[in-house]
Amino acid sequence: MSFENLRIKKPLQRALENEGYTAPTPIQALAIPHLLENRDLIGIAQTGTGKTAAFVLPILQKISDIRKHSKPRMPRVLVLAPTRELAAQIGDSFATYGQFIKFRHTVIFGGVGQGPQVKALSHGVDVLIATPGRLLDLLDQGYVKLSAVEFFVLDEADRMLDMGFMKDVYRIVSLLPVKRQSLFFSATMSPQISEIARKLLTSPILVEVSPQATTVEKIDQFIFFVDQENKDKLLLGLLQHNHLTSVLVFTRTKHRANKVALLLNRNNIEADAIHGNRSQNQRTKAMDDFRSGSVRVLVATDIAARGIDVEDISHVINYDIPNEPENYVHRIGRTARAGSDGTAYSFCAADERDYLRNIEKLIRQKIEIAEHHYHSEKAKNAIGDAARPAPRKQHGPGQRARPQKQGRQYPVSGKPYPAKGR
Ligand code: AMP
Repeated sequence: MSFENLRIKKPLQRALENEGYTAPTPIQALAIPHLLENRDLIGIAQTGTGKTAAFVLPILQKISDIRKHSKPRMPRVLVLAPTRELAAQIGDSFATYGQFIKFRHTVIFGGVGQGPQVKALSHGVDVLIATPGRLLDLLDQGYVKLSAVEFFVLDEADRMLDMGFMKDVYRIVSLLPVKRQSLFFSATMSPQISEIARKLLTSPILVEVSPQATTVEKIDQFIFFVDQENKDKLLLGLLQHNHLTSVLVFTRTKHRANKVALLLNRNNIEADAIHGNRSQNQRTKAMDDFRSGSVRVLVATDIAARGIDVEDISHVINYDIPNEPENYVHRIGRTARAGSDGTAYSFCAADERDYLRNIEKLIRQKIEIAEHHYHSEKAKNAIGDAARPAPRKQHGPGQRARPQKQGRQYPVSGKPYPAKGR
């Protein structure tokens, strides 16, 4: 299979050659023919499968086939993404794959001044990539109109749902023309997700690639049973090894991300943190430094890490075990991008033992146990209450401590995470 077989136009093929892509990935091979035939599509695919090019290429092909002069404030293509990083990356993909065709695009997201975004829209763009919160702000102010949208893409729909964006998404969709081509991508399929897809799409084709449980198979995974108080020492010890060249460390909260980055800096290891409390500039700089190799370790929370697209991450280290098992798959998938293998280390303390059991159930495999200096039998054998985090205390007057709900938990602030515009 080649891009030529897929009827991708020459200028787009040239761009792909420049990128060194010789053949389409499975999601591209499966989705592109349907998209070129104007079908609505549900793509079940994770980041790392090449899903972005699967929608960017046919869209570019179509807008360049029917070249219209895009009117000020009236984009022809709308792509919604849950995070700024992901939106920016999709924007970069449009720029890369569309380098030899004439079109205009812009990316809008919250957390930065709206002036330049408003200006770009007023000049007229063909493709608008947006996070829902900022798009609604600009729609309410009349800086953008959606009545000329021909192609609508909802990317990472499951994240949109997790992050509480669905109400905003429905409002945005209500402003789109009924006659449009709609594309819907999600890493996972649940009854809720398929209900949303049913509302947004018309007779869609379903394309699914690499179910979650199999994508992790080519990653070398190890569990380090360790007591919480020894995690710092274990991390510093591992980072003594030079083959950990480019390391993504995950923590469960923003506070812990900062603490770990600080610990590493104090020990002369170049590290930075990326999470929702950092400004857009700080996040962009951290990403650029990590990509260029001037920062060896990037410490991230789950949501901030969505859309991190850095090739050659040698190791993912789960400093904390994720409380949602799907996040384990998302996290470690960062180290095996576009065909390369990777390594993932997970630190499991006693009160995370049950999280680990849930992960092993999801991926249907037992993760190998690493032998190391700080090994904790207590963590390894924890069961019952000892295998879960202690219930959080309520401090308000008259409030009693409630057992913590199983399943989703929110970081230190105790507030639903994240807020709009992230
Ligand atoms: P995505 O799933 O869209 O985040 O893409 C994952 C990575 O795969 C990105 O770094 C892309 O640049 C890369 N990629 C996309 N399509 C191809 C392809 N056909 N061949 C090789 N790499 C690709």
